Amino acid sequence: MSRRPRRRRAKRSTKSHGRQRRQQLSKEIRELYPPGSADGDPDAEWHAGLEDELDAELHRSPVRPRPPTNTGASAPKESTPGAREPDSADGLEKIGLVAAISSGACRVETEDSSLVDCVLPSELARDQRAAVAVGDRVAFIAHGAGNYRVQRVLERHTTLSRPDPHNPRLERVIAANIDVAVHVASVVEPALRPALIDRYLIAIDRGGAEAVVCVNKIDLLTDSEARQQELERLDAYRRLALEILPISAVTGEGLEALRDLLAGKTAVFVGHSGVGKSSLLNALEPETDAVIGQTSGHGKGRHTTTRSSLYRLAGDITVIDTPGIREFGLWELTASELRAYFPDFDRHSAACRFNNCSHSHEPDCAVRQAVETGEIARPRFETYLRILASL
Ligand code: GDP
Ligand code: ZN
Repeated sequence: MSRRPRRRRAKRSTKSHGRQRRQQLSKEIRELYPPGSADGDPDAEWHAGLEDELDAELHRSPVRPRPPTNTGASAPKESTPGAREPDSADGLEKIGLVAAISSGACRVETEDSSLVDCVLPSELARDQRAAVAVGDRVAFIAHGAGNYRVQRVLERHTTLSRPDPHNPRLERVIAANIDVAVHVASVVEPALRPALIDRYLIAIDRGGAEAVVCVNKIDLLTDSEARQQELERLDAYRRLALEILPISAVTGEGLEALRDLLAGKTAVFVGHSGVGKSSLLNALEPETDAVIGQTSGHGKGRHTTTRSSLYRLAGDITVIDTPGIREFGLWELTASELRAYFPDFDRHSAACRFNNCSHSHEPDCAVRQAVETGEIARPRFETYLRILASL
């Protein structure tokens, strides 16, 4: 079934060079980080020590220098200031973007778009789940023939994190420097459940990225009234100035709007399994098989996970797709953390009778009173209660 609209050719052809590079990048990443099993739970995979396997792979043989992917020419001997040549000079610090990560090492996209494997210094490797993530910008140096080492991680402007499953107090950064987190929901199958959106929004907000909600599979609501009714269920979020995009990976409706929103940005796609994240990623870049959605015999959505990757898509869109990122919002939140995401309650909570008031059932709760008087927006409070009840 190819009802998917074709991309404009003219735009494409001028981008063919970039596309080749992207495909090469995706290919190289897939070689080093082959897709996990279709049944693999990204969370489990992330934490099951698979990194050790990669660690062995990366360290058994010395990390080899990679030729630049977009030029056959070798680097000129003298370097011109500002020239972006492959990193051959010892000791010269370069800046790159972490495109994939494994234990003790990472693959870095250099400013000239070549890829190099860098060893992480022990202090970063020791706590690498927090210290370095896909999307991080790093300073690295060449030392010895074809060996690269990360020197330091540059300051992040956003993160997506979750607590470590073994120690919920420990933050695990799963991606860095994301501009937009696209929360994908769907209608009909699975049905739209607005309550599920809140956790994602809180987690996204916590890391500083902008959130966008895509309501996928909108093609399944053919009746315009039913469609409108369904979308009205998200009015509370629209009032929070959140972009809500009805979309269909199948018909292509809404795709241009999504492309426009993501142009020039780094994005992640999050949401429950089966809502169509892989399909949307594929629809954004129909030519590449960089991201593959798989369907089981029962029609339940599955996704293939690569361990950690960064993809360059058409239209200057960068997507980070790493294990655990898609459903990262499902992590546990403590009640006190939750309260921190409702700073609009703070002004009132000081007047609650109990200073650890959960604002759910306690007597003399100033927050509930503020809801009654309209000083706190009721939908916000209901969202809060709903999440609290789910903790
Ligand atoms: P993921 O788990 O979120 O990555 O979901 P997938 O992309 O694997 O999609 C799950 C299922 O939904 C697959 O059977 C897709 O063919 C189907 N699907 C995805 N997007 C759409 C859409 O826009 N419309 C319809 N009707 N089905 C879709
Ligand atoms: Zn209270």
